[in-house]
Amino acid sequence: MSATENPLEIARKALKLLAEQHRAPTPEHFQLAYCQVTGRPAPVDTGLPDGLGEALVAFCEQLQPLFEDISGVPEGGEFLPLLMLLRQPPVQLEQALGGLQRLTQHLPRIVTEKMEVRRALFDLLHLLVENIADLSSEDQWLRGQLDCVRAAMQPPFVLRTIDEARERLQDVVLKQREARLGADAVHAEMQQMLDSFIQRLTTMSESSSGFQDSLEGAARRVECASSLDELRPLLGEVVGTARQMAVQSAETGKELQGLQQRVQEAEARLQQLRYELDQASAQARHDPLTDALNRRGLDEALGREISRMRRQAGQLSLCLLDIDNFKKLNDRLGHHAGDAALQHLAEVTRACMRPTDSLARYGGEEFIILMPGTAQTEAIDVIVRLQRELTRRIYLSGRERVLITFSAGLVQILPDESGDEAIQRADAAMYLAKRSGKNRVIAA
Ligand code: GH3
Ligand code: MG
Ligand code: MG
Repeated sequence: MSATENPLEIARKALKLLAEQHRAPTPEHFQLAYCQVTGRPAPVDTGLPDGLGEALVAFCEQLQPLFEDISGVPEGGEFLPLLMLLRQPPVQLEQALGGLQRLTQHLPRIVTEKMEVRRALFDLLHLLVENIADLSSEDQWLRGQLDCVRAAMQPPFVLRTIDEARERLQDVVLKQREARLGADAVHAEMQQMLDSFIQRLTTMSESSSGFQDSLEGAARRVECASSLDELRPLLGEVVGTARQMAVQSAETGKELQGLQQRVQEAEARLQQLRYELDQASAQARHDPLTDALNRRGLDEALGREISRMRRQAGQLSLCLLDIDNFKKLNDRLGHHAGDAALQHLAEVTRACMRPTDSLARYGGEEFIILMPGTAQTEAIDVIVRLQRELTRRIYLSGRERVLITFSAGLVQILPDESGDEAIQRADAAMYLAKRSGKNRVIAA
């Protein structure tokens, strides 16, 4: 078709062309026909505005994991066709929008399902942990592992806590596995020694019954002997047998001695392994940051001390302390400085305690000091001493001197009170200490 200069003429021809092609006179169709009439190239479809296509592809790629393992969405769902469409420009805005709309319709359901799956898995884990705990109440090593998991399962879920718990659990599991393998090897070795010991005893009794036979035979012949000449060879026989017996028993004695030594060595190794296993399990009772007891360690210590207090009609004091304005310290100096401050507090506290006292990390910046054989008035003295000591041994973060203060609630545990009840009372007193201006101890 030849180009013509008159726009009206071109427009008329373009409309006629559309009619011939049975196409609706939309602006896009008209523009195409107009170009055909004039012989100009049709405008290139520019698709999505610059950069938007790439941004959408990146967005969809980020979303992709959400669509994995989701029931009710056909494989790839609305998602793969859209991604394919976006990756092959030029892309029509309308098509892309349609795809995105269908995709976003699925999203709320998918997110809900993800949350549900998470919750269900969590319930399952709870169930599993409690079941194993019931089954293995005798196995203290396994119990330690379970407590790690339990602690990490306490809401609110902090990724850092869960990661730390996983690392500690891995550590404990590894050490326990090593110790168990070692113990198995020693066990096998001991069994082997026992085997050869029994074998040795069997041959000994066999050969001694041989000696016995030959001696009994000689004795019978001595009884019947009528002359010295008859006795002489018998004597030689008896002496020979006795010598043989002596040699054999000396050999056996040496062998048994060696065996005994090996058994003793194996026993010592087994003891060392047991010690290592206990150490690994003890880790499950301590907070790795401050080395104070963790919740499990505290539970055990509290149970033990309360029983002792009841048995001996003694006194047991408990102090719950919470660092003042710790969040500010963290915000101002950073989390690492906060961690170091917790370690500092634990160290100074230990220095003020008696060896029979226990320090436990009850929560983030909350500690419990358990003081057996200590009445409330003496316990107050201990805590006041700790406050003084903290002003003397100031915590240094870089060049900055930071005074750590705390508010504390102190109780003397009643004879018929449980550990939890005592902690609740101490907590209420601690709360009062906070409310009345912080940096103080209130005894309840
Ligand atoms: P208050 O005087 O009322 O006790 O105020 P606070 O800021 O000490 O108490 P709050 O409970 O508001 O904040 C406690 C902070 O302790 C918040 C949390 O980030 C921080 N924290 C908890 N555990 C750790 C930890 O292991 N390391 C560090 N660095 N900070 C922790
Ligand atoms: Mg607190
Ligand atoms: Mg605090």
